[in-house]
Amino acid sequence: MRIEDVHALGLRGATPRGGWARELEPADVVHTLVVVTTDGGVVGYGSVFTSEDLVRAALAVLRDLLLGESAVEPERVAEKLHRHTFWQGRGGAVTHTVGGIDIALWDILGKVTGQPVGRLLGGTYRDRVMPYASLLADSVEQVTSQIAELREHGFRAFKIGWGALGRKDRRYDEKLVAAAREAADDATVAVDVGASDANWPHGYKWALATARMLADYDVAWLEEPLDPDHITEYAMLRRAAAVPIAGGEVLTRRQSFVPFLDAYAWDIVQPDVTKVGGLSEQRRIGWYAQERGVRLIPHGWNTAVGLASDLQLASALPGTDLVEYKTGSPYIDEIVRSPWTLDADGMLAVPDRPGLGIALDPEAVGRYCDVPPALRHVLLRDQTEHNRQETRA
Ligand SMILES: [Mg+2]
Repeated sequence: MRIEDVHALGLRGATPRGGWARELEPADVVHTLVVVTTDGGVVGYGSVFTSEDLVRAALAVLRDLLLGESAVEPERVAEKLHRHTFWQGRGGAVTHTVGGIDIALWDILGKVTGQPVGRLLGGTYRDRVMPYASLLADSVEQVTSQIAELREHGFRAFKIGWGALGRKDRRYDEKLVAAAREAADDATVAVDVGASDANWPHGYKWALATARMLADYDVAWLEEPLDPDHITEYAMLRRAAAVPIAGGEVLTRRQSFVPFLDAYAWDIVQPDVTKVGGLSEQRRIGWYAQERGVRLIPHGWNTAVGLASDLQLASALPGTDLVEYKTGSPYIDEIVRSPWTLDADGMLAVPDRPGLGIALDPEAVGRYCDVPPALRHVLLRDQTEHNRQETRA
């Protein structure tokens, strides 16, 4: 089976706030779906945390290397794309886009072999995963009410991040964390201060003091308390802090993670499958981390395709028992045929159908991007196949 074409669909109109110094508008495109079609009629989905313009530009560089290639050899084909682009866009938009293609090729391999991607990635350590609800920490009142509301919806793990955290004063940080702990009761609470923000003002001493404060609130981890490139400070902090230290969401390429993991700089590594280079990179980082006593818990502020990828990877890595769930994003909740449903324990089932186990809903996708008519036909056909499997199951 050969790759016939590849399409980019940038999602716009409902882009959630990111908490960034220069805040996102609903019309901004930061999530772009990638659709790979084949001469066998099978279609694969990927997702890229990058603007549509950059993904289209990257596809122009990659297209000749990709078209006509095997559609069922994700790792080899992704590696080929990486190695032919050492001189162009390496680590940036080209790497992000290769990741989207890689995810789509795993999806196709799963559909062709009739297996969920997690099994193809090595096995099934778990068939359900705890999603943690990710929310911005704008104010004490909002944190309290939002966690209460999310508990009503069945979530049992939470992360507050960015917003006012680290951006007002130390006492307010503690108030935010105390409010989250109280609202969450004995549920999991993690704290993400977001030092990959453009104007992050703090350094090592602040991070250490914050880690000490958090130790009183039983938090699952402290995320991105330092500039994302500061390996030495991360390693010092990990040694000094009682709370687990997490980071790595903005890094790309597996090779960038090696110095951090060799320096024992994190307790938890958080690559984003839609930026880092796809599932092939993500799996290798996960196993390399495992050998150093570091857990991979994926960064997942992305789309339903990104979430499905994270769930499949979580089924195949021994230590990955949490995934991030960006609550309130229609790009997660609306664009798939079968909605995400939490069970009574607040867990998400790993989709057990072939491939990523999801089908895009062409109507819903069409609300957030222009789907060319020929591609719409392809999505409809895939949706019909997905429904047929659902009926059979
Ligand atoms: Mg983060």
